[in-house]
Amino acid sequence: HNILELTILLYCILTCLNVFFPNLDFSWSTELEQNLKDVFQLSKFRPLQLKAINLSMSGKDLFLVMPTGRGKSLCYQLPAVCSEGFTLVVTPLVSLMEDQLMYLKSIDVEAVSLNASSSKEHAKMVLAELTDSKAPFKLLYVTPEKIAKSKLLMSRLEKAYNAGRLSRIAVDEVHCCSQWGHDFRPDYKLLGILKRQFPKVPLLGLTATATGSVLKDCQKILCVPEPITLTASFNRTNLYYEVRLKDSNSDDSVSDISALIKERYKDQSGIVYVFSQKDAETVSADLQKKGVNASPYHANMNPEDKSQVHRKWATNKIQVVVATVAFGMGIDKADVRFVIHHTISKSIENYYQESGRAGRDDKPADCIVYFGFNDIFRISTMVVMENVGQQKLLTMVDYCQNVDRCRRSVIAVHFDEVWDDEGCNEMCDVCHYITVDITQHAKDVVQIVELAGSLDEKLTPLKVTEAWMGKGPAKRRKMIQTTTLSRLEVEAIITSLLLQGYLSEDFSFTPYTTYFYLKLGGKAPLLKNQSHSITMKMRRTGLDANTVSTTQQTVQESFRQEAFGCISRD
Ligand code: ADP
Ligand code: MG
Ligand code: ZN
Repeated sequence: HNILELTILLYCILTCLNVFFPNLDFSWSTELEQNLKDVFQLSKFRPLQLKAINLSMSGKDLFLVMPTGRGKSLCYQLPAVCSEGFTLVVTPLVSLMEDQLMYLKSIDVEAVSLNASSSKEHAKMVLAELTDSKAPFKLLYVTPEKIAKSKLLMSRLEKAYNAGRLSRIAVDEVHCCSQWGHDFRPDYKLLGILKRQFPKVPLLGLTATATGSVLKDCQKILCVPEPITLTASFNRTNLYYEVRLKDSNSDDSVSDISALIKERYKDQSGIVYVFSQKDAETVSADLQKKGVNASPYHANMNPEDKSQVHRKWATNKIQVVVATVAFGMGIDKADVRFVIHHTISKSIENYYQESGRAGRDDKPADCIVYFGFNDIFRISTMVVMENVGQQKLLTMVDYCQNVDRCRRSVIAVHFDEVWDDEGCNEMCDVCHYITVDITQHAKDVVQIVELAGSLDEKLTPLKVTEAWMGKGPAKRRKMIQTTTLSRLEVEAIITSLLLQGYLSEDFSFTPYTTYFYLKLGGKAPLLKNQSHSITMKMRRTGLDANTVSTTQQTVQESFRQEAFGCISRD
């Protein structure tokens, strides 16, 4: 009783607290919300952003692991705007730095940069402003070599620190610190000086890909005593993942792709990734011939043409870019509704990145990959010089080849993420079954087995299949209801009836072998009941639907709709 009363009391107290203080806010919470909307023009935080920002604002050192394109930058840009002084941002590439400066300028946030291409005057002005309490800039972007090599910069930072103007340090692409990471940069190794010289300034390390051991290494190199690590899920819930098989003999994937673009993705923006520069040209030309507004993009085009294609696509004057992986850096279009891979990527990481350019606006989008036997070997020879190239390629092949594990679970396991089967929500082809009513089919099949029984005959599963498909003896055909369903469908239904107990196995032994026959199962009598119905789950796109040509596929699909009266996804 005591425990019960105590629980009730506690519950009341908590409820009261909740009513009177709906948000046990931080002192900066209101300003944060305000600036998110007014300055960054965003309506709400994405998962983990607010948590990361609150931790950093409370002065904690933090490692944030979040997939590309999810919005890591906001986690230091917004705190920078809401803090006194400025935030030091270390970025590995000048191009990334310039993208950010351009973006910040467009939303009226003052930011400056120092890199190898800064002019002397510019550098001088920036260095002077570091210690000027009236300087308006909120972010200072530098490359790691500036920290490593410029004593002048360090001395100015020191002054700013002592004046309390250095509010935060952000190290972007923090995995570059570690030799065990995939993108080691020697200058990152020297960044430990920051935390040693400025111990009171909270540091925020950001990366899209880092395992636990790489992060441990980064922690040591950066001299961060006890960082908190936040890891965002890799699960992009709004993306639908699908694999389609490509027939090596008669590759009609381009017809398939053009049909998709003209029907399912009519007037919607997308990317088709291809294997080579030559493929970019030919696939693009083929699509154009079929009436798709497409343009090629690859590294070998001249810079003006490249930026023109990019610009026209970004402003929806081109619907589809047919590109090699050169189309990647700085692609930040929010409303990409489909990313189709005409050829598989060279690893799951690559596939995740490339396909991840779809649906950045959090609305539904599709990621389809065409998987062909020959492509495996085309890519294999391309990555032959890479250390673990073959191994990585096989992870991609496994992703495509697999037909019984959820595509998301394959990706999650690959990224060492704990996977919960609910996480897919039927948003991949493997999980996307349709529920169909098979009551009438069950009655037909049971009738066949019953009839055989009355004639004192035993039927193997093969005989049942053939009888139902109208391939049995003529006199028998008249007495039963045959079907027009495909063989794979017939087999799937018979299996399901067996699993559900409407049929059961009837073994027969001879000295030489054991025969498997079908007989009525315990639940068969239920079918006499008018109101009894049976359903089963069926894969919408099976091996059968993929290997037949598009027209056949449509016929089959409509067959299926007729036969099952079912609804498909689109
Ligand atoms: P990352 O560094 O993690 O790869 P970015 O910081 O470059 O990602 O952000 C990618 C895109 O996501 C940007 O266009 C950004 O404006 C957008 N974004 C970030 N946060 C949000 C949000 N809360 N709501 C909507 N879009 C956001
Ligand atoms: Mg980034
Ligand atoms: Zn799934």
